[in-house]
Amino acid sequence: MMARFSTRERNLAMHLTLKALVAACAIATLGSAAAAEEQVVNLYSARHYSTDEALYDNFTKATGIKINRVDADDAGILARLKAEGSASPADVILLVDAARLYRGEADGLFQPIRSKVLEDAIPANLHAQPTPDGGIAWFGLSTRARVIVYNKVKVAASDVDSYEKLADPKNKGKVCIRSGSHPYNLSLFGAITEHMGEPKAQAWLQGVKDNLARPPKGGDTDQIKAVAAGECDIAVTNSYYFARLLRSNKPEDVAVANKVGVMFPNQQSWGTHLNIAGGAIAKYAKHQANAIQFLEYLASPQAQEYFANGNNEWPAAKGVELGNPALKAMTGGKPFKSETIPISAVGANMPKVQQMLDRVGFP
Ligand code: FE
Repeated sequence: MMARFSTRERNLAMHLTLKALVAACAIATLGSAAAAEEQVVNLYSARHYSTDEALYDNFTKATGIKINRVDADDAGILARLKAEGSASPADVILLVDAARLYRGEADGLFQPIRSKVLEDAIPANLHAQPTPDGGIAWFGLSTRARVIVYNKVKVAASDVDSYEKLADPKNKGKVCIRSGSHPYNLSLFGAITEHMGEPKAQAWLQGVKDNLARPPKGGDTDQIKAVAAGECDIAVTNSYYFARLLRSNKPEDVAVANKVGVMFPNQQSWGTHLNIAGGAIAKYAKHQANAIQFLEYLASPQAQEYFANGNNEWPAAKGVELGNPALKAMTGGKPFKSETIPISAVGANMPKVQQMLDRVGFP
């Protein structure tokens, strides 16, 4: 009797203890989820610019949300997201190329963003096409132009004032460009395909290949230096690499930049090709509200100025003006005409571009 009563009592006590434990755990879980939601954004970033640090610090100071950053290149980040699947801790993804952002979207690695702040701030041609239910997979946050640099003594500006002229037989043996399979060139080729159509784009690729001064090697800065050194007369580079040389503390860098001319191609036609650095929210983000808050912050005028200026880029957000002396020097202080195609078309053209590169044997 005593033992039975005791057992019942123990059972009751155990039951109560279990209930209390479950409740306590639930509170703890809720508490930590709420705390995490308030305090953390896990960022996978392909931006390799030290000036971004202060930007992230300012966000943390303003919001109390800490940023845990993982650095890798675009391809590395996309591969990692795929490998991690639903276990991925990633919340926000920053990539530095339009076609890679498109790839991430196409591979289902991002979740559609619904933010009036971002949609109002970023022009429609610089973000992903809205999904049927109105979400947007990624937003451009800064823009960079793919420009032509040239030997001012040996090449007339009128011989390099369009991308088409890179393939003109009169420029045979003069052109330097980094590997055709680098994302910056793939996106340029995707844009060229959008503007010219596939047959003309393939003929253009063949023409550029025929005009190469040497097999592609090095990055964009190496191409600018090769023009200054006389190894080639014409080269292709992202605008910020040129601006970086102009603003460098090293006199030899400034000398390189001053020695070459810079051309924003296609001012008389469809405009200079713009690529973007942009942001997305990971499909399995655990801190979704923080992630949106962080992207909205990056699109704000103050952050845009810092985000773009720090790497000598142009802001993606409407109405944000820069006082960057190197960019002013490059454009003569005037706005330049940039292409207006939806940047998502560049990514959508990648299968065609890959096939054309194979057919042409572009190095
Ligand atoms: Fe770069």
